[in-house]
Amino acid sequence: GLILGIESSCDETAAAVVRSGGEVLSNVVASQMEMHALYGGVVPELASREHLRNIVPVVREALRAADVSADDLDAIAVTAGPGLAGALLVGISFAKAYAFGLEKPLIAVNHLEGHIHAVLMERHGASAGGLLALVVSGGHTHLYLADESDGSWRYRNVGRTVDDAAGEAYDKVAKLLGLGYPGGPWIDRLSAHGNANAVPFRFISINRGTEEDPSFDFSFSGIKTAVLRYVDTHGMKAAIDARRAALARIEQPSLKDVLALCDAETLDLIASFQHAVVGNLVRQTLAAAAHFGATGIVVSGGVAANRALRARFAEVAAERGLSVAFPGASLSTDNAAMIAAAAWPKLRHGEFAGADLNATPQLRLG
Ligand code: ATP
Ligand code: MG
Ligand code: FE
Repeated sequence: GLILGIESSCDETAAAVVRSGGEVLSNVVASQMEMHALYGGVVPELASREHLRNIVPVVREALRAADVSADDLDAIAVTAGPGLAGALLVGISFAKAYAFGLEKPLIAVNHLEGHIHAVLMERHGASAGGLLALVVSGGHTHLYLADESDGSWRYRNVGRTVDDAAGEAYDKVAKLLGLGYPGGPWIDRLSAHGNANAVPFRFISINRGTEEDPSFDFSFSGIKTAVLRYVDTHGMKAAIDARRAALARIEQPSLKDVLALCDAETLDLIASFQHAVVGNLVRQTLAAAAHFGATGIVVSGGVAANRALRARFAEVAAERGLSVAFPGASLSTDNAAMIAAAAWPKLRHGEFAGADLNATPQLRLG
């Protein structure tokens, strides 16, 4: 089964060719990160325009790199949501026209299911006790129970953020500290240079369910406010403005450049923020795994690239005899290989989309 995956839900235009849900023949991503960085975040109108510009060359490159022709494909898979409406529509319109023209089946994939399959595609077979998936990215912090039967996957949402996503908190805190966009990778790298126990940030456990039927939820807007308050009460504002201005003058700042602009207090604050966020993500995920008796944990989405998160999960999972799996580096952030992988069970089950497929910006999983 040779599937062409197409992804355009946010700020990357991506196409990939994947064989039988696991063998990545090509994985092409045109990122708009640099353009959006000028504005400190994704600008929807610009994103759609860039997707339009990139979609044809990206698909062409994915086929060329995989060394397959369009006629060899067995299906075209595309992200149907969640995401930005105008951005999703570019991928969907292209995929529909392409599938129609080639007389190949069209498969709609939920972006979040794609993130989960970024891990599953490299880690075949669910563990006996069931699987708990943490999808943690710029737009989502969601926990799902995932079950496979007859090669079909079913998901149940058992927790989510009630306000900001974890990646969003990383990006907002980085911004308020005068660091570049996206902030997650910067905070990740800078944290190694600070004392993670310097500032005690606290999280409370959130449960929108009941005691018998709990949900394992997150909230990340509080810590952003706490960081802001710390900055105000410790007179760090002038240094932050100076850092922001200095970084704006450097074309592609290196870690060394940024470190030179951060004092010890700032590095301690950054390390403490990351320590608290990682601790909270791991704590809630383990609590959910224990409650539902899951023995395998899958962590995916952009924040899954975080080194402290990976290290902490590996540590506690080993202690508790749980397996924990992360996507490879190129599959953590948005890509189309994960979309093609998630489409493979649907191809085998004949779960196809019709010509009426539309973008669903708020599409839910499970
Ligand atoms: P979604 O997948 O929810 O629609 P998205 O497209 O913004 O949203 P991704 O592209 O999967 O999400 O991930 C981007 C996010 O991941 C950003 O918020 C970024 O700061 C964060 N991120 C990337 N690398 C790291 C890292 N090493 N540590 C922490 N956060 C990171
Ligand atoms: Mg993205
Ligand atoms: Fe994503």
